[in-house]
Amino acid sequence: MKRIMILGSTGSIGRNALETLEGFRNEIEVVALSTHQRVDLLFQQCQRLKPKVVCITGTNVPLALIEKIQQLGIDVLTGKQGLTDLVSLYGADLLLNALVGSVGLLPTLAAIENKITIALANKETLVMAGEIITTRARERGVRILPVDSEHSAIFQCLQGENFKTISRLILTASGGPFYQCSQKMLENATKSEALNHPKWDMGSKISIDSATMMNKGLEVIEAHWLFGIPISQIEVVIHPQSIIHSMVEFIDGSVKAQLGLPDMKLPIQYAITYPERKYLQSERLNFSSLKKLTFDRPDFSKFPALRLAYQSIQTGGTAPAVLNAANEVAVNAFLSDKIKFIEIVKYVELTLKKHSLVFHPNLEDILEADLWARNFITAAIEREQVLEVNF
Ligand code: MG
Repeated sequence: MKRIMILGSTGSIGRNALETLEGFRNEIEVVALSTHQRVDLLFQQCQRLKPKVVCITGTNVPLALIEKIQQLGIDVLTGKQGLTDLVSLYGADLLLNALVGSVGLLPTLAAIENKITIALANKETLVMAGEIITTRARERGVRILPVDSEHSAIFQCLQGENFKTISRLILTASGGPFYQCSQKMLENATKSEALNHPKWDMGSKISIDSATMMNKGLEVIEAHWLFGIPISQIEVVIHPQSIIHSMVEFIDGSVKAQLGLPDMKLPIQYAITYPERKYLQSERLNFSSLKKLTFDRPDFSKFPALRLAYQSIQTGGTAPAVLNAANEVAVNAFLSDKIKFIEIVKYVELTLKKHSLVFHPNLEDILEADLWARNFITAAIEREQVLEVNF
């Protein structure tokens, strides 16, 4: 029996993972789950799967619900520290990290220290601390398997290949809901428009990141660390059909691509069953009804988030951690109607400009930069609000 921990089990990736695991009930045991706020759903998952432990990170959770979970004979941990304790204290073979945002970093590190293979859906871990994570994983002999569809595609293309023969990674992007929009429309973009992704059904944070294209920027950084490829050799191409999930070009000019209908179950299952490829009940590609696949250059001036992400990884040090933290706060501010859609990236850029960079940061430097960025951008957003009220 392979034992798996799923952090973020009530989110989109977590729920897809549990559905995928239904097919492997005799091979894979779920030993740990976690949620932020959706304790009702976590309780249902607990009844079905009987894990050893769960973690609830949200506050104001009704005590009665926690007791109901404990009555099933399941340990309940709480808070961010609970996530790290869960990974460190309860054994497993595989950690699926499907947490949203920077909260994913320390549990990933805990898994590396405990030599637990990681299926990583939490790209923020690598954006914040890619160098530390990949170095430590190498030292400890721990594998990090990508769950993000683009990185899974690249990983699948690289099976049997020598990484030294890669000449380019080409990440595809659907373009998000505003691909065809004018600048004017972007300025008036509403929350429901921004959340309405044309191809993927995802959580709210990543949906907004896709609308600003910050998600693709974070994925460029993620790919850089996962595959050890210089940023100058990682490109983004718009591919609105989301059929090609990414491509690898080799030194002889050959390009390999991984194709499929947009369904996260495939990359999740591939990470869970790797190195094996298993049957997956799913709709299949029908090429004659597809008719055409199209490609386009990303518009860096309409989507400045992409430019900022490239710049921050080229700058290096604590810049990507600041980019990530500021973006998390700005996205939340947009989701709670405090700022406009186009202001998300403006506030992130302002935060990056004001940050005093630390080169070759250690973990403390990164966590400090993360906290600084959150405080700075929160205050900046508040100041703007005051101005609006005054005028
Ligand atoms: Mg992706």
